[in-house]
Amino acid sequence: MKCKKCGEKASIHMRQHKLALCKEHYLEWVPEQTERFIKKYEMFNREEKILVAVSGGKDSLSLWDILVRLGYQVDGLYLGLGIDGGINYSHESQRLTEEFAQRNNLKLHVVDVEKEYGQSIPMLAQSSHRGYGKPCAVCGLAKRHEMNRVARDLGYDVLATGHNLDDEAAVLFGNTLHWASDYLLRQGPVLPGTDGLSRKVKPLCRFYEREMTAYAIMRGIEYIYEECPFAEGSQSIFYKESLNLLETARPGAKLIFYLSFLEAKKSGNLFIEKNESLRHVHACPKCGQPTTTPDFCSFCRMIEKAAAEVE
Ligand code: SF4
Ligand code: ZN
Repeated sequence: MKCKKCGEKASIHMRQHKLALCKEHYLEWVPEQTERFIKKYEMFNREEKILVAVSGGKDSLSLWDILVRLGYQVDGLYLGLGIDGGINYSHESQRLTEEFAQRNNLKLHVVDVEKEYGQSIPMLAQSSHRGYGKPCAVCGLAKRHEMNRVARDLGYDVLATGHNLDDEAAVLFGNTLHWASDYLLRQGPVLPGTDGLSRKVKPLCRFYEREMTAYAIMRGIEYIYEECPFAEGSQSIFYKESLNLLETARPGAKLIFYLSFLEAKKSGNLFIEKNESLRHVHACPKCGQPTTTPDFCSFCRMIEKAAAEVE
């Protein structure tokens, strides 16, 4: 297989794009494509301040790397979750994130959930009785809340996450199986900002996971290979595996699934009616973030409950 641009030996073959590229041209192609998606979905411009949520994994570190290469103003945010799981997951992912920031002379904010709220994610999961043994529900809630808080407090216009196509297709698959209309209406490469919330964007949403792995490796980015120990056996991994079976038989199926959804949504053909009148959005009296739950937001309620449990 030869590189389409220079004819040298190809390093990656992307069946779904019918495109093979050598290392040099692949490392040019990825930022070019990212820039195309940023413009197409109107994610942000070069005057805006971007905060990228970095976990130490290949996607978020690559996203940071790509945005810097493209000349955007972008800082990083690492959230310390306090997840150990025998492999010292949080410690190791923080170390790799800090190393990446240092090596590239980038600004990184580190927020430790336990220092901030007195309990780590696994502790919060236990004391708030959420999640039935797995801390993922608590973790997702806390991550969203903390990303929003830091972006707002530090004046960032945009919050960027490293979700790739495999992530997005798996979420879409789950939302479709449950016909979760609220979630389907909100899913997409850009979630517009509202009062008190920065705009959220996913610049890598059209790259396959293996494309991001290839990018990270070819760029020499050191990232944490291990998944979070709690990811094992999760629903989203099952959906990813199911979609991979489909992709093997029909190269490009994942991309078509996601892009057809975006297309239908754009042209108003999702057959889902917005029912805003039922949902009353107000500012949480404690943290100020918008919420639809009566009184405090879910995060603040969780923290209160967890604190009461410990006393
Ligand atoms: Fe959090 Fe780990 Fe669950 Fe992901 S898999 S939501 S990082 S606990
Ligand atoms: Zn709140």
